[in-house]
Amino acid sequence: MRTLLIERRGIPRPKVCGGCMAPAGVTRLRGLGMIDEGFDRRLGELSALRLCSGWGSCTLPIRPYRSVDRRTFDESLVERAADAGVEVLTDARATVRPDDGVLVEVGSTRLELAPRVVVVADGLDGSALAERADFGWRDPPRGPLGLGAIVPASSITQNPDEIQMALGADGYVGFATIAPGVVAVGAALSAEAVRRHGPLLTVRGVLSEARVDSEWVGGAQWRGVARLTRTRARYARGRVIVVGDAAQYVEPLTGEGMSWAILCASSIAPYAERVARGEDVEREWACFCRGSLRSRRLVCRGVSRFARSPRAIRALTALASRTRIPGAVSRGLCWEIA
Ligand SMILES: Cc1cc2nc3c(=O)[nH]c(=O)nc-3n(C[C@H](O)[C@H](O)[C@H](O)COP(=O)(O)OP(=O)(O)OC[C@H]3O[C@@H](n4cnc5c(N)ncnc54)[C@H](O)[C@@H]3O)c2cc1C
Repeated sequence: MRTLLIERRGIPRPKVCGGCMAPAGVTRLRGLGMIDEGFDRRLGELSALRLCSGWGSCTLPIRPYRSVDRRTFDESLVERAADAGVEVLTDARATVRPDDGVLVEVGSTRLELAPRVVVVADGLDGSALAERADFGWRDPPRGPLGLGAIVPASSITQNPDEIQMALGADGYVGFATIAPGVVAVGAALSAEAVRRHGPLLTVRGVLSEARVDSEWVGGAQWRGVARLTRTRARYARGRVIVVGDAAQYVEPLTGEGMSWAILCASSIAPYAERVARGEDVEREWACFCRGSLRSRRLVCRGVSRFARSPRAIRALTALASRTRIPGAVSRGLCWEIA
């Protein structure tokens, strides 16, 4: 099919992200031929997870995660799509019309398109479905807020092979080295704490509680995401199919978001072909989305609950210093696919 990619920003674009990709995403990209040797060499390897909290710290082994700098990584993916024949239109806003047509706005120019298939991949705070109440969001009332920044490695004590997680009562802040001398910071914070103290004080509070240096926080350029955990009322209808964060979001504690977006997007071709033939895939696509994430959501929910419990972290820290059980569990929980 002829494919047009419409992005409302320029590429590379700013993206709040911790930059840690689960093995599942890397395996799928490699299977698609999107990661060659040169590309692979540019991705960092993360082989351990360091948990820091007021109740102690411990380092657990993980199956190798890769660290990616979203600025260069996303740009390479778009280049590969263009090489494969995709037409790319940046600085252009797309709005899906009630009749499944698409309005494209580039500056003051407005174009009405009637594609055979519309794939919406506009993330957690996209605007492409603004005219489609039938695709509305379901927001849990007390879902966490997201915050991210890119900071020089000189301002933080960070081992380049590790994902470091500072855990506190009001959320967690994660660190990963995404390029030499560059660290990505991603945080999931209690909405209530942010409303009460503001985002920076909340980040500082979590870091101080975990005994991680927080002096750099005020000097960093933070970007926020309103809500982290949301799902769509539906995932497909008529000629429209929704993928990635725009469909549903897995809390980023274990770095699942990119892998989910990649798995979802790379599975879409047979559904898109059927939509192009005029078939209805609403039920099947919803089953695919819910089914492929069900077990990961359970793991993520369990891990984030665990991470917010002082007693559990204290027990884990004590156990990790004496036995290999926590290490075996942490490796087993990493998201891998065949
Ligand atoms: C704090 C935080 C930390 C995270 N850390 C990690 C991590 O360590 N590992 C991990 O795997 N995931 C992480 N994630 C999640 C990850 O970033 C996302 O899951 C992933 O980027 C989803 O990709 P996507 O393509 O679905 O959406 P996005 O990457 O959000 O892309 C959506 C694109 O659509 C564009 N757009 C929006 N509206 C329109 C419109 N109307 N017209 C045209 N274009 C539009 C946007 O500009 C954007 O470029 C984190 C997220 C947060 C918030």
